[in-house]
Amino acid sequence: MGVSAKYILQALEEIKANGTKQSLIAENKKQSLYLDYPELKRFDEQIASVFQNAMKSVISGEKVDFKAAEAKSLEIQQQKKEFLEKNSIDLSKVSPLFNCKKCSDTGYVNGKICDCVIKTATALSYNELNKDVDLERYTFEKFDLNLYPDREIEGVNSRELMTKIYNFCVKYADSFSNKAESLFFFGKTGLGKTHLSLAITNVLCKKGYNVVYGPISKVIGNIEKEHFSKDEQENTIDNVQNCDLLVLDDLGTEFSTPFVVSTVFDIINTRILNNKPTIINTNLEFDELEQKYSARIVSRISGNYRMLKFIGEDIRIK
Ligand SMILES: [Zn+2]
Repeated sequence: MGVSAKYILQALEEIKANGTKQSLIAENKKQSLYLDYPELKRFDEQIASVFQNAMKSVISGEKVDFKAAEAKSLEIQQQKKEFLEKNSIDLSKVSPLFNCKKCSDTGYVNGKICDCVIKTATALSYNELNKDVDLERYTFEKFDLNLYPDREIEGVNSRELMTKIYNFCVKYADSFSNKAESLFFFGKTGLGKTHLSLAITNVLCKKGYNVVYGPISKVIGNIEKEHFSKDEQENTIDNVQNCDLLVLDDLGTEFSTPFVVSTVFDIINTRILNNKPTIINTNLEFDELEQKYSARIVSRISGNYRMLKFIGEDIRIK
């Protein structure tokens, strides 16, 4: 599972910035405390000098009595402790207020990225996605199965079928892994395809997966812009190819040019080859997709995706 590197870096910066800020604040408080209690400053300087002297000796190759140095340091620390107690000084009030106790807001624990960085990065990517789509509106809880008629349409009971699809999607999101299968949602407009794919997106984003969601026109538009401007800053294509889950909404609504057709094929094909799951939504029938793209794309999709046909009446009207 991987949050995009862009958000990891951004999170690291934010966390370190807070660490530096808190350390500075704590240092100011300590200096102010030293003005009230010069003895305290002397204790701290003495403790520091014990170690500095030992280090100097090590560097100049002299023999160092570490035991004696440690004993000396402990002795001063004990005096300091007694002094603090006598004057009722609470040192915790001048120590830095870090958000993360594990890494003291450095972002690293034993050379490894701290959990707090992943958590922050996940939240950042979720917010970024939320800027374009109001993710909170599209949850499983807000999906209303009663909007589907409890009668036969095209040979199946619409509500029963949609209940099965709904349950399938809930399970898909719950048990998602990098080995999850790809899904193809098709059927007429207004049957909840976007809602269910965003509900899956919602769950996975909160779990820390890197999900790229976008109406196909927007995704392709970004790639096209970057392709022709050679913009090094953005890397939509990398992210689209490598994210944990790619959700392409409204396939077939974009204006098709040879560039678009080959890019769409590339994205779909590369993700299949790399065993990366993708969810595609479309209002088009297979023959329409074949006409718009190619038989090649349709055969790649039908051979590698689980097909879920949505049947009912436009729920947006209700
Ligand atoms: Zn941390």
